Amino acid sequence: MAYVVSEACIKCKLTDCVEVCPVDCFHEGENMLVIDPDECIDCTLCEPECPIGAIYSEDELPADQVKMLAVNAEFSLKWPVITEMKDPPGDWKNWEHVEHKYPEHFSPKPGGQNDE
Ligand code: SF4
Ligand code: SF4
Repeated sequence: MAYVVSEACIKCKLTDCVEVCPVDCFHEGENMLVIDPDECIDCTLCEPECPIGAIYSEDELPADQVKMLAVNAEFSLKWPVITEMKDPPGDWKNWEHVEHKYPEHFSPKPGGQNDE
């Protein structure tokens, strides 16, 4: 079992979560983060750190976020590890309460520690 980043994170990449992870299992895409399910040790530390409640335990994942299990698993293998907080997107507040962002707004492109 692992923790999972839901689609709420898309375009709201605040990165508070990454600093508490003891095993560095967050990976950074262009506009969201994902958790490597094979590295996550279920420590629970990241869930309360996310200011918008985007992180769930796999067994508490809402039904409409089950699709994000595969996204976390696939893209954690493709995107670079992120361990330090960085500035969020300038317009993240506009996206905070938008639902169902995945189909239109998910980006498969990798992010980077020094890309902004
Ligand atoms: S703190 Fe929440 S919104 Fe920010 S990157 Fe982590 S999961 Fe995404
Ligand atoms: S539950 Fe712990 S190990 Fe898993 S992603 Fe969150 S901080 Fe990292």
